Amino acid sequence: HERSMTLADQAKRVAAEFDFEKDAVNKAVKEFIREMDEGLQQEGTEMSQIPTYVTAVPNGTEKGLYMAVDLGGTNFRVCSIQLHGNTTFSLTQSKVAIPRELMVAKTSKELFSFLAKQIELFLKAHHEEHYAGTLKRRETGNMEPDQEIFNLGFTFSFPVNQIGINKGMLMRWTKGFDIQDAIGKDVCALLQTEIDELHLPVKVAALVNDTVGTLMARSYTSPGKTGTLLGAIFGTGTNGAYVEKLSKVTKLTKDQNAGEYDKSTGEMIVNTEWGSFDNSLRTLPNTPYDVELDKNSVNPGIQMFEKRVSGMFLGELLRLALLKLVKDPAVPLFADDNSSSNDVHSTTQIHDSSPIWKQWGIDTSFLSTCAGDSSPGYRMLRQTLDKEYDISAVSAEDAEAVREIAGAIGRRAARLAAVAIAGIVINTGRLNKTTGTATTEQKSGIDLSRGEVEVADEDMIDVGVDGSLVEFYPNFEEHIREALRGVPDIGEQGEKRVRIGIAKDGSGVGAALIALVAGKVA
Ligand code: ADP
Repeated sequence: HERSMTLADQAKRVAAEFDFEKDAVNKAVKEFIREMDEGLQQEGTEMSQIPTYVTAVPNGTEKGLYMAVDLGGTNFRVCSIQLHGNTTFSLTQSKVAIPRELMVAKTSKELFSFLAKQIELFLKAHHEEHYAGTLKRRETGNMEPDQEIFNLGFTFSFPVNQIGINKGMLMRWTKGFDIQDAIGKDVCALLQTEIDELHLPVKVAALVNDTVGTLMARSYTSPGKTGTLLGAIFGTGTNGAYVEKLSKVTKLTKDQNAGEYDKSTGEMIVNTEWGSFDNSLRTLPNTPYDVELDKNSVNPGIQMFEKRVSGMFLGELLRLALLKLVKDPAVPLFADDNSSSNDVHSTTQIHDSSPIWKQWGIDTSFLSTCAGDSSPGYRMLRQTLDKEYDISAVSAEDAEAVREIAGAIGRRAARLAAVAIAGIVINTGRLNKTTGTATTEQKSGIDLSRGEVEVADEDMIDVGVDGSLVEFYPNFEEHIREALRGVPDIGEQGEKRVRIGIAKDGSGVGAALIALVAGKVA
């Protein structure tokens, strides 16, 4: 049996399975636009397109002290935010990992009482003045707080059917959570009940999706002439919220039972829930690794876009792809017998304890390690395999193979992210809106035909992003941009007009801003 195929070739072949090239991107963008429109018109569609009741983005002048909590995928964050009214803010934050057992608890009370307890600990540590009265109230049973009540924005990053600015029913869990009795319940009420049991001077004023928070935060800190168009998360999960014309949100404008909202702006922020884009796989790529990951997940057939894009899943895709090579008898990965080399201890070994044998064993941060290591022989990569993954004495060839496949998975994720961004940029018609303002080059008479066009600030389309993947994966934005340029309706010119910026602490500031808006409405 001839070893005609080297490890490098085989790795290239597996990597190529993750190709997602121009034509495929375009087909997916078209489908994304179709699903966007469908979701605005009716319920029960693949992308939920949830109206958020938030009808304006901030302009940087907002002021006040607010609290915010964020139940993401991995951590629970509690913070207080002072908005200074000049696009800046100060933020005090604490963060705790959500215990795994609470993610799949029998009752929602177990989770929500834990969350309320964290709010109490935060107040005690950072806002003594607000906490002092709490103990007194507990003793006396007097429920009336004698100090100012904190308005709190509750960032809850799961699909909810929002029926008011601080009211929303959980539709389904994602990201590994599974607490059956919470489904269909108002998550703000669940939290408020536990807060009240502790007599804390806190009112859940707004229900916030993290994507909406990201959009609001970005718009506050970098207010342009037109405001931010889109807030997008690429963290444990992925999702986006954007500014839509109210007239297009027909499922809300025609709904007799819809709650109150301000119609004067003619706009509403819509939470796309794009994690479930193309669940029926009309246009998404689908490798054997995608199939297997989905089959072994808690929600097969659901969140199919998210399963190809976000931090919760990319490490697992890599693990499955690597295992294919590990088990390939022709060119086994991590089976080098390097004893002929100088190093006597150089036989590669995957120890039984290696997380590579276990579902979810590889963290997506490892993909960043791979993409970020271009050192000769890939020292960081091999060291990480050794230290964190119990795979010792990995050869440079093996490291190269791992890097090739990891890079392909990361690149595909970014190109898929571009599908969502492109769909929204195109479908909102923002590209057609130009001020016609001359750029510096035009003014100075430089020939524009050779490219290097500076885009006038007013013509920029602002996108706020957040999440470890987009923040830390090397060149995630560059991969997105390359894909955007390949979309005919965007092209080189359109891609230059898209400004992508990290919305730092987005969920906290954004939630504060929405709590502020909610206070005005009430
Ligand atoms: P969340 O989305 O839960 O609020 P994050 O934005 O920090 O929190 O995302 C956490 C996810 O990001 C996890 O799935 C983790 O595997 C992944 N992650 C953490 N660090 C990195 C990194 N350096 N590069 C890529 N992904 C990362």
